[in-house]
Amino acid sequence: METPENESFRDSIGTMNEEGKRAWVYPKKPSGKYYDYRKYVSYVLLTFLFTAPFIKINGNQFLLFNVLERRFNIFGFPFWPQDFYLFVIMMVIGVVFILLFTAAFGRIFCGWICPQTIFMEMVFRRVEYWIDGDRGAQIRLDKQKWDAEKIRKRVLKWTIFFIISFLIANIFLAYLIGSDRLIQYIFEGPFEHLSTLISLLIFTGVFYFIFAWFREQVCVIACPYGRLQGVLLDNKSIVVAYDHKRGEKEKGRAKFRKNEDRAASGKGDCIDCFQCVHVCPTGIDIRNGTQLECVNCTACMDACDSMMEAVNLPKGLIRYASEENIEKKAPFKFTPRLKGYTAVLVILIGVLTGMLFLRSDVEANILRLPGQLYEHKDNNIISNVFTYKLLNKTTRDIEDIQFKLKSPKGEIKSVKQGEIIVPAQDLAEGTLFIEINGSALSGDKNRAVIEVYSGDKLIETTSVTFLGPRSYK
Ligand code: SF4
Ligand code: SF4
Repeated sequence: METPENESFRDSIGTMNEEGKRAWVYPKKPSGKYYDYRKYVSYVLLTFLFTAPFIKINGNQFLLFNVLERRFNIFGFPFWPQDFYLFVIMMVIGVVFILLFTAAFGRIFCGWICPQTIFMEMVFRRVEYWIDGDRGAQIRLDKQKWDAEKIRKRVLKWTIFFIISFLIANIFLAYLIGSDRLIQYIFEGPFEHLSTLISLLIFTGVFYFIFAWFREQVCVIACPYGRLQGVLLDNKSIVVAYDHKRGEKEKGRAKFRKNEDRAASGKGDCIDCFQCVHVCPTGIDIRNGTQLECVNCTACMDACDSMMEAVNLPKGLIRYASEENIEKKAPFKFTPRLKGYTAVLVILIGVLTGMLFLRSDVEANILRLPGQLYEHKDNNIISNVFTYKLLNKTTRDIEDIQFKLKSPKGEIKSVKQGEIIVPAQDLAEGTLFIEINGSALSGDKNRAVIEVYSGDKLIETTSVTFLGPRSYK
């Protein structure tokens, strides 16, 4: 995008005044097509966030991130520390996804999906509009002395903010310790679980601080994703952008005069009404060009469209566009680059989903008993002793466990008498002997492949190193 000659706006952020103090942003209440769409998206996401900890699949909470006990459920699949490699792969895929997605589609995530924006703009801000009124009324109320009206409004707003923050903290706790335990704690009374209550109040305080005071500064100052925009975006990235070619033309932006022939006047289509600035929740002027503070919330697109409609000019002066679209006046196209990025993103999501579904229900770890080599028995039988750990990742008991030696030919004898059962979401441990005739060995170290069955069903295959005498070569 053509850089404006006066770049002084980049010397400071929109939420700071010349003295370096916080410039409180009073965004005008947005309205329009995009705001409506964002509201619908927020309803879906908020419903998901608040219900996901209470949804169960095969008895497993749909999403659980119990870092304290190292238990995780993703889409109802239980994960164990043994599945950590999956987390690493997920994180790598997540980073690649973010890089590609941002390079192609800019900060769409921030405006439409980010929990910070959803809670701030679609929950807390709407409560604020409801109690304090729109931008003008909010500015007046802030300047107003502490009379009965201001006290009533402030107490009501802060109380509602606190209740919502407390609710959010509870939901986060349900993701952390599990919804069953949360409900149990609620019924047993908070004072029975004082440390949990204290953590809950600390988190409530953090959420309250963020949404009542810190607000857009999260996106502008604190968010690492926001900080990355400078390196992730290029002139082909789709962002919320002001069409400066159309907005400025030869004579620049100018106020609208009734009955004027705008097209013939040489003035730009921007009527300098400042509506796009007044609705901006990060306090910037998008007409200055793409800025780090912009969370792509689309509020300025709606505001400008309504102004364009009012003065009978085409909509889309501020729209989703790349720098290249605007410079070359080319309409938005799903370019090969975007198609390529989208294909890579779809493949990555496919790989991750496949990995989640292909993950085995049981994990077998069979290890040599420390300090033991081998035993030479009668009839040239070589015996090694191992310990096994079977981890059941499912919510049902796995019964009738049997170990079979797939190769080389030999026998496995479990020390445990009777049936081996691995309880649901638990471990079974024990000792077993592998016995192989010396003639079947090819040296002192041999790879032995072990199959684990539940009844007739093969549930896991693993291998160990079987030791024998060197002479068997
Ligand atoms: S410039 Fe527009 S899209 Fe960006 S944050 Fe402000 S209102 Fe939202
Ligand atoms: S809302 Fe549109 S017309 Fe009004 S100042 Fe912003 S860009 Fe110009």
